[in-house]
Amino acid sequence: MARIFNFNAGPATLPLEVLEEAQRDLLDFQGTGMSLIESSHRGKAYDAVHAEAVANYRQLLHCPDDYAVLFLPGGASMQFAMLPLNLLPAGQTADYIHSGAWASKAIKEARLVGKVNIAADTGKAQPARLPAAGELQLTPGAAYVHLTSNETIAGTQWKTFPQTAAPLVADMSSDILSRPFDIRQFGMIYAGAQKNIGPSGIALVALRKDLAARAPANLPVMLRYQTHIEENSLYNTPPTFSIYLMMLVSRWLLKNGLETVYRRNREKADKIYAAIDATEFYRGTAVREFRSDMNITFRLPSEPLEEQFVKEASRQGMSGLKGHRSVGGVRASVYNALPMEGAQALADFMREFARKNG
Ligand code: PMP
Repeated sequence: MARIFNFNAGPATLPLEVLEEAQRDLLDFQGTGMSLIESSHRGKAYDAVHAEAVANYRQLLHCPDDYAVLFLPGGASMQFAMLPLNLLPAGQTADYIHSGAWASKAIKEARLVGKVNIAADTGKAQPARLPAAGELQLTPGAAYVHLTSNETIAGTQWKTFPQTAAPLVADMSSDILSRPFDIRQFGMIYAGAQKNIGPSGIALVALRKDLAARAPANLPVMLRYQTHIEENSLYNTPPTFSIYLMMLVSRWLLKNGLETVYRRNREKADKIYAAIDATEFYRGTAVREFRSDMNITFRLPSEPLEEQFVKEASRQGMSGLKGHRSVGGVRASVYNALPMEGAQALADFMREFARKNG
């Protein structure tokens, strides 16, 4: 079996043992004689999976009782819309921090729903950076404050979160459960699963239940957080296989421990940043204090060299290193499941490539 080091930004590499278990279970799920994909979402077999997924993510996030944990279809992009539809009442303002391409998409959607104030804008800063807490122009009485904990394209990551009077909401798509954090600092967090916790097309959402009660009465049932809270994410037929995979990843996270996962993530990122900093040949595109542990973005002296870099890396078993099509350059996404050996292999390759071509 040829498993390569997968640096894709998402969908992204998953723990091998999770994939192996899913493979073992595929045709006959735990003696049921059928795949979980073919099982009823109201049946015993799926019920146990669903309950464990909810319990494990509650545990991983240290969710107090007044928070709900939901699995919702449509990925993070659906949350860009559901958030203002539910939490931004007419006449109120939501504060959004514009930090790059993903924040911008969240903002665009919120503007279709209600009043938005841009509390800070570092979206076009070069090198990429995030605003300092003192830079934020927050609206008194805002419905909520939204930020993007990790900008997947720009390669920036909030290291500490601002204290806000209004509930803080974070799009954690590209760094969810890559490090410990205090959920009580947030009114809501959401994340497309396809980077750190599962397959694409589904989002993990954790929110304070009282916030869900703000939704206007004419909001369609399927778009209401309240519906999914009341039905424990089983109002509709949920993406059962995706939730099953997320459950397996949650077991892997619990087994390893979030502190250990975080320490390994720091170590992986440090290896690659050290290779960048060791020579003038590479230029990191994010300001050092905001550099992401998840998406490491950098440039080489020329585009042809970048192309050659990506090609040669691929020949050596490292794929997915091409930068996002909107910005070019190189991007190494080093999510939870990327093995340490993958980060080491890339760092070694970088030193060798710079030596040969610098
Ligand atoms: N937010 C961030 C930070 C992302 O990186 C992405 C996807 N790359 C999204 C939102 C959108 O996620 P989805 O494709 O699941 O809608």
